[in-house]
Amino acid sequence: MALRNQRILISGAGIGGPALAFWLRRYGFEPTLIERAPAFRDGGYMIDVWGVGYDLVERMGLLPAALEAGYFIEHVRFVDEHGKRRSGFDGDLFRLALDGRFFSIPRGDLARLIFSKVEAETRFSTSVEGLREDAEGVEAHFNHGPPERFDLVIGADGLRSHVRECVFGPEKSYEKYLGYYAASFITQGYPHRDEKTYLSFSKPGRSIARYALRGGRSAFLFVFAKDRRIPSHETSRHKAILHQTFGQDGWETPEILARMDETDELYFDAVSQIRMPQWSKGRVALVGDAAHCPSLMAGAGSAFAMLGAYILAGELHKADGDHTKAFAAYERRMRPFIDKQQRDAERFAPSFAPRTGFGLFVRDTVLNLMKVRLLAIWFTRRNFANAFDLPDYS
Ligand SMILES: Cc1cc2nc3c(=O)[nH]c(=O)nc-3n(C[C@H](O)[C@H](O)[C@H](O)COP(=O)(O)OP(=O)(O)OC[C@H]3O[C@@H](n4cnc5c(N)ncnc54)[C@H](O)[C@@H]3O)c2cc1C
Repeated sequence: MALRNQRILISGAGIGGPALAFWLRRYGFEPTLIERAPAFRDGGYMIDVWGVGYDLVERMGLLPAALEAGYFIEHVRFVDEHGKRRSGFDGDLFRLALDGRFFSIPRGDLARLIFSKVEAETRFSTSVEGLREDAEGVEAHFNHGPPERFDLVIGADGLRSHVRECVFGPEKSYEKYLGYYAASFITQGYPHRDEKTYLSFSKPGRSIARYALRGGRSAFLFVFAKDRRIPSHETSRHKAILHQTFGQDGWETPEILARMDETDELYFDAVSQIRMPQWSKGRVALVGDAAHCPSLMAGAGSAFAMLGAYILAGELHKADGDHTKAFAAYERRMRPFIDKQQRDAERFAPSFAPRTGFGLFVRDTVLNLMKVRLLAIWFTRRNFANAFDLPDYS
């Protein structure tokens, strides 16, 4: 049967969008990728790759390059105001528990690797302004240039998806705020480096972590509790909030805040999930965070975006482009897995940045127990397994 619905517009060149373009091209579709930013965005903190994420990096043929660009964390250490260890464990436990299939990589480096494999037209500084669907396809209106027709449109434009807003309605209907904010940036030449060590400093309700990257770079992650949402999208305001929240803290905090002031690329967003009753409507579907952001607490948003891309493209291929069949199968296959991962992440949120001194004490006690290696391996397998039986679409 001839392949239907070949012209596919993908909005968002983060992780899910390029991964989808990669698989669609492989199956003979013609994806066009648009990205609102003027250039490829390679910011973001370290992400861990294991389970289904590891399997997909491998299936895309990216594993050797990803391992070379990646890191093997040897120590996870939590310190006090004076830099003295309060708890921690050996990073190799994750690799042991996950049969060696575990590594860490800055989000931007993984995104760039995926993007480098995409053979599709990509337009930067381009965003969808409106979508009009009829029986034959979708007319897309952009922020510049004339409207264009596509057979299908996929929103891969992240937690704050505009395609979702256009087609499914306001974000507030789908966002579940978990009570925390996260911010991250990468800087060059930060003087304190603990190679192969994930180092974190916490006070009740807030924490800062740093990791030393190659080439003299360092990545930083802030997480803090906030009962109410912050209504601003301006980087200067975000920086002011980080100063307000962390400004009185010890350890290296003043130096880190000074570095943060110098950066142009600060990722700052609520730790939220997206929960939708449906991921597609007519000829439009969502993939990755736009559809089902699991939040930072799941530690696997990129893996799930890659998974959605793989399943959605695979189902379109299997159905010879019949979007009605493919969109339904995509959702049927993924939803039980995503629902469980979102529930687990929500449960885990309070222990990521405990809000009280007692909470920090409990966290330190649990982490110190990880010294008992057998217990740690059991704990890791039980809590971090995110295996998914990937269908074979080839
Ligand atoms: C620069 C950056 C840094 C990040 N850092 C972190 C981090 O430190 N910790 C963390 O937990 N998560 C971070 N994330 C989110 C993380 O990448 C995602 O949770 C995960 O990878 C899922 O990927 P995704 O492709 O669905 O969404 P994303 O990776 O968020 O990609 C979405 C893409 O869509 C683009 N976009 C947004 N709106 C439009 C529009 N209207 N039109 C066209 N394009 C649009 C965005 O610029 C982005 O490139 C970051 C995302 C970005 C973009």
